[in-house]
Amino acid sequence: MRQRLLALLAALVLAAALVVARRWGPAPGEDAPQERWLVRLEPPASPAELLGDGRLTKRRALRAHVPSTLSWTLRVPPAARLETHLAFARRTQEELVGVTCAVRVEIRPEDGTTRVLVERAVEPHLGWEPYRADLSDWADEEAVLSLDVDCASRPGKRTWSDAVRWSVPVVSGRRPPGLPNVLLVTIDTLRADHLGAYGYERETSPQMDALARRGLLFRNAETVQSATWPALTTLHTSLYPSAHGVVWNGHELPGGVPTLAELLHSRGYSTSAFVTNMKRARHRGFARLSASTAGEQAADDREAALAAIEQMREDRDRPFFVWVHLISPHADYAPPPPWDRAFTAAGEGSVSGSIEELVRRRLEGRPLSRTERAHVVGLYDGEVAFVDELVGRLLGALASLGLEGSTLVVLTSDHGEDLYEHNDYPFHSPSMYASSLRVPLIVAFPGVLPEGEATDHPASLVDLAPTILGLVELPVPSSFQGTNLLPGRALPAESARTQLFSETNGRIHGLSAGGFRLVLNPGGETPGAPGGAYPIAAEELYDTAEDPGERRNLAPHRPELVASLSAQIAEWKARRLRGELPPQTIDPETLEDLRALGYVVD
Ligand SMILES: [Zn+2]
Repeated sequence: MRQRLLALLAALVLAAALVVARRWGPAPGEDAPQERWLVRLEPPASPAELLGDGRLTKRRALRAHVPSTLSWTLRVPPAARLETHLAFARRTQEELVGVTCAVRVEIRPEDGTTRVLVERAVEPHLGWEPYRADLSDWADEEAVLSLDVDCASRPGKRTWSDAVRWSVPVVSGRRPPGLPNVLLVTIDTLRADHLGAYGYERETSPQMDALARRGLLFRNAETVQSATWPALTTLHTSLYPSAHGVVWNGHELPGGVPTLAELLHSRGYSTSAFVTNMKRARHRGFARLSASTAGEQAADDREAALAAIEQMREDRDRPFFVWVHLISPHADYAPPPPWDRAFTAAGEGSVSGSIEELVRRRLEGRPLSRTERAHVVGLYDGEVAFVDELVGRLLGALASLGLEGSTLVVLTSDHGEDLYEHNDYPFHSPSMYASSLRVPLIVAFPGVLPEGEATDHPASLVDLAPTILGLVELPVPSSFQGTNLLPGRALPAESARTQLFSETNGRIHGLSAGGFRLVLNPGGETPGAPGGAYPIAAEELYDTAEDPGERRNLAPHRPELVASLSAQIAEWKARRLRGELPPQTIDPETLEDLRALGYVVD
């Protein structure tokens, strides 16, 4: 009975997957054969859990009983490989002491016969055990894939409910010619103007500068909110924070919103994420999610970069989407040697770059001296240079794997950093100024995009998902709020967008357009920030060309301009943002993570 129920569940899962694939799939009339070999990572009928194995990698996992058979119907792509993993629930371990379990992975191709791909007798184990198989004999066939586990000595004699977890099977074929890989590198808290490619005088970024020389650089790119989870969620969903609902760190993305990774996965991409911030989010659409656990920023980042390189090596003959998010420029500003002394002398000034000390100085109302600020900025620049070296390793690995010519590389950041330019504040959220909103954006796609060019066209993080889908020639779902910045895989003569919108806390809104920035805080709210309040006036207007530091508020002198930009913000809010967001709670573990990063204002 249970088996039948599970089979029914699996069928429902597949049906739901196909329905969703169709809903977010290509425009009518477009040919999309890959859709048929979709094994969806997050079946809406049975949300897959994200489960760790005590090591680095978490996997999308489905619970199953023992005995049970989970089945999927799929169209086998050419030169396909199957990868899945099995783990036993901790509780089951004790119940199954001394019992040997039979595990089978089978395929039933069109001729109706059943072929055993992997058959193993295993003792119940805690960690993930991989099951891999070559499916190339059944290319282009419609086949049923089954995962079977039975621990009873006599089948059907005994059942254990909820006893095992299968990682959602990943079936991916050889990368067809012309379908590029996607390597997305996001660097937390990275200011564009602290990179050589953006005119910085210090040598912080030789590797990113080299990427700019073989790609297209957007001089005028901004995030949508100066906070990690809201900004990265926007990057992956092409929805503004008050549309996707993650308006603060720790919030969860509501179901039903397609993500870039889900869309790429549904078209046969192997999807892997390596993150060292925002570790506790589900990151939907990634079959593998590595959240580094070294416990220290530089070590975490090194671990993530090396794991990503290993993944690209493993996936080199399959289309892959690898996302690497590195935290290092985020406070604490404590670069490892030799970067700790690269831009400031050790011991200079009396202040360290620790969150704790910088928050305390702000709380005590003791602003940093010029020398102390210069020291903090020198440490920040050291972090940038450290992370630049890791970017160089990632790009070097692409080249040595022979994938440079077939991989779209996108490098950006989730937000910048105030570095004491406003409100005596070193960090980012809830800043609404260029210091924390401007981000680097470099897009390199050899043979398709111009190399070594830079554009003034405004770009927003909300545009990245549609731009990436456009570049790999996949359709863009109608839910996306961003714009493809490179329609027809080229830089258009006229900018695809003219307005850059931003928000914070869901109640303060901003717009950068036509050389001005307007910030509206109609409730006169004073947002909290680590170390004390972060005042924002009801109306702030800056001439960003004349006053790039955004220091002279022109709002009282330019009422007509304030009115015109306000009307544009009102229109954007009415069209794009949700008036009311579902309430969110943050689980205690996530809260603890956020506290360590200085995000929790007590
Ligand atoms: Zn961040």
